[in-house]
Amino acid sequence: MNKIQAIRGMRDVLPDETPIWQWLERKFHHMAFHYGYQEMRLPLLEPVALFERAVGEATDIVSKEMYDFTDKSGEHITLRPEGTSGCMRAVLENNMCYNKSQRLWYQGPMFRYERPQKGRLRQFTQFGVEAFGMSGADVDAELIFMVRDLFEDLGITQNVRLEINSLGTPAERLAHRQQLVQWFTDHKSQLDDDSLKRLAVNPLRILDSKNPEMQAIIEQAPRLLDFLEEESRQHFATLRKLLDEAGIAYRINPRLVRGLDYYSRTVFEWITDDLGSQGTVCGGGRYDGLAELFNGKKLPACGFAIGIERLILLLQVVYGDQNPQWQTHPDVVITSEMDDDGVCAQLLACTLRRDLPSLNILTDCSDAKLKRQHQNALKSGCRYIITVNADKQIRFWNLQDNRQETLIIEEIKKQLLSS
Ligand code: ATP
Ligand code: MG
Repeated sequence: MNKIQAIRGMRDVLPDETPIWQWLERKFHHMAFHYGYQEMRLPLLEPVALFERAVGEATDIVSKEMYDFTDKSGEHITLRPEGTSGCMRAVLENNMCYNKSQRLWYQGPMFRYERPQKGRLRQFTQFGVEAFGMSGADVDAELIFMVRDLFEDLGITQNVRLEINSLGTPAERLAHRQQLVQWFTDHKSQLDDDSLKRLAVNPLRILDSKNPEMQAIIEQAPRLLDFLEEESRQHFATLRKLLDEAGIAYRINPRLVRGLDYYSRTVFEWITDDLGSQGTVCGGGRYDGLAELFNGKKLPACGFAIGIERLILLLQVVYGDQNPQWQTHPDVVITSEMDDDGVCAQLLACTLRRDLPSLNILTDCSDAKLKRQHQNALKSGCRYIITVNADKQIRFWNLQDNRQETLIIEEIKKQLLSS
């Protein structure tokens, strides 16, 4: 028989890893709350047309990476490759920005048909934050402050760096594009196949090429920053002023373009050098033109997304696999020597759980001898072992001071309550 296995690029998160996920989720949820952002829960499936229109047909995400299919009624749908487009769809569809702005966040799996490797999966998870209805650079800065606070809370500020750029407005990009096309056409012989294709459909994306042989020609290409007009320049200056005043270090990277077409003005990435070439842990920016593609109305917006699997890889580099910050242990393990099919131990657990709701109480339901039960309990890292002896007496073993005594249940509860 053929073995049934997980689909390529999709991984199980097992209990030895879930504590770090939960720890990270708690930190992220706190950060979102602290900044006044509200949670959105969005569908995993969306119409293909949503991403064709929003992310852009000429991007890698839409042209090669979508998990799309035709459903039973003939609709062309896809597992979502990213969250911003769906969030925008939901905001407009539910008229959430009528006369007000919105600060939102979401979390969940995204799907891209990419070549799986370390830090690159076909199902991966993002924390996303989006702010709708505010056009000022102060909101862009707020997003960057949020990520900085989160990274500080996680203790990884030394391991990440911030790069920013401005992509200007569509008109400014058009002026730049003409010169960019001219430049790359003049140097066509030095372009790789990918960039030749991009030259025809999406020349700005050539700047995003990771091919080392292309870097020299990209370095010398005309810079979009030089084409910004007064308003965009001012917007970028305000952002920089806020970052400077807040003491946030950053580098202006004029080649930073991001892999999605909807960005305008601010773009930013947080990058780590500890994970090889899959080093972008957070990407974001402003996308003022996106709403217009849906309903023709203006709705300024900006946001970012953090790749959780990459962030976890980074945390594991920084802290090692096991870390007391996120490891959880049972508080109490109940073992038994009685020959009663576990009845006494399980009932004792019931009583304790009812009166000690904040404790993690585990019952050993194995058929193992008492000695082995104790060995397993000690390995679990618990603080107390309670044993129902063969004569039904209860022994309370405090592993912190290594005291063992025979006690009645009420006394055990008292000791646990004061622990
Ligand atoms: P990259 O340049 O690494 O392909 P991207 O520009 O495609 O990233 P975004 O669409 O901006 O990425 O997504 C935001 C974040 O989501 C990335 O910075 C990264 O941390 C994470 N991410 C994107 N694609 C993957 C993937 N296939 N596997 C794991 N994480 C991913
Ligand atoms: Mg990508």
